[in-house]
Amino acid sequence: MRVLVLNCGSSSVKFAVIDTDTQKAISSGLVENIGANSYIKAKGPKNGFEKDLDAATHADAIFAVQQYLKEQDLIESIEAVGHRVVHGGKFVKSEPITSEVIDYIKSITLFAPLHEPAHAIGMEEAKKYFPTLPQVAVFDTAFHQTMPVKAFLYAIPYEIYLNQSVRRYGFHGTSHRFVSGEAIRLLGQKPEDTYLITAHLGNGCSAAAISQGKCVDTTMGFTPLEGLVMGTRSGSIDPAILFFLNKTLGYDIDRLDQLLNKESGLLGLSGLSNDMRTVTQAAAEGHERAKIALEVFCYRLAREIGGLAMALPRLDALVFTGGIGENSAVVRERVLNNLTILGFQLDAKKNAQNGKESSGLISKDGTPKAIIIPTNEELLIAMDTEAFV
Ligand code: ADP
Repeated sequence: MRVLVLNCGSSSVKFAVIDTDTQKAISSGLVENIGANSYIKAKGPKNGFEKDLDAATHADAIFAVQQYLKEQDLIESIEAVGHRVVHGGKFVKSEPITSEVIDYIKSITLFAPLHEPAHAIGMEEAKKYFPTLPQVAVFDTAFHQTMPVKAFLYAIPYEIYLNQSVRRYGFHGTSHRFVSGEAIRLLGQKPEDTYLITAHLGNGCSAAAISQGKCVDTTMGFTPLEGLVMGTRSGSIDPAILFFLNKTLGYDIDRLDQLLNKESGLLGLSGLSNDMRTVTQAAAEGHERAKIALEVFCYRLAREIGGLAMALPRLDALVFTGGIGENSAVVRERVLNNLTILGFQLDAKKNAQNGKESSGLISKDGTPKAIIIPTNEELLIAMDTEAFV
């Protein structure tokens, strides 16, 4: 089946046409910078394509995507549409899109203010261009809904959970679900007898403890700000720092939001970049703050992995994925070197060789397994969509 996968972000629309039989993308691309200097960049069966656009809204961007698919003679072959949704609130699994689902997504806008309105527009616009096709929403939070109460509750007054739905939701669920499924296959174990930790390390970073195929804990929380050090996000900090900066520097809510989401993480620590490639290279050349950024990133990740291990009866494998997890041998080495208490021992040769496009073991034989598995969220969205059709 051919599925159009749409990922409407805060100022972008990414798309892919996935053939679920071959599990390959026939076409993929994105509209970037919606609202100012937008452009479309795509590749398809006929050719690659790049053009400036005048896309003021997400609706304009979806129009440009369907125009491109028409030009590539792909539009008629599409049989269903799958949408990536950042926050699924109460949803525990993927859902066929109805007007009730769209209304619910709009109703939880406060949970992900930049993303949920974009998702709702994407669904409504796709319905216009593909009125007869089934559409399915796949939520980043759904996989984490199996977390037990002890893992998802914050120790704040219980009424705030009951009345405001403030709890830990977790994100990157589609990626954690995809790579944990692949890991179970790779290990040749039964899902009901497999215990994993998956580390999705991209611009955003999160790790999850997966017991018998189900998530039992994860590092992101009410929002994708909690947990690990990320490209520009701080991850967990003492919340009292916010009160302190408010009192000493007069930072208001918006300034603090900007500080923790956009100016922190690798960028804030290194003063150089949010990009791990730049930070790693600068660290290797002796840049002091880049060295610090890399060290904090890897140590905090190892510390969180250690914490997540406590949610499992044993650990069969640690999985690295995402742009950093798949490509950065340096990060993987440092993380495993911080995890010797769990028995991990890196095989340096395998660590250097394995990576993008190849799933592979990077730990020494006879020691706990560490594996790289490239993520493929689009494929999982397409497969979930097909399952409903
Ligand atoms: P997103 O979360 O936006 O999907 P990615 O999963 O593509 O992002 O991950 C982006 C991160 O991956 C960036 O920090 C980038 O520096 C890092 N990355 C990509 N390639 C490499 C590499 N060869 N070495 C180290 N880091 C890399």
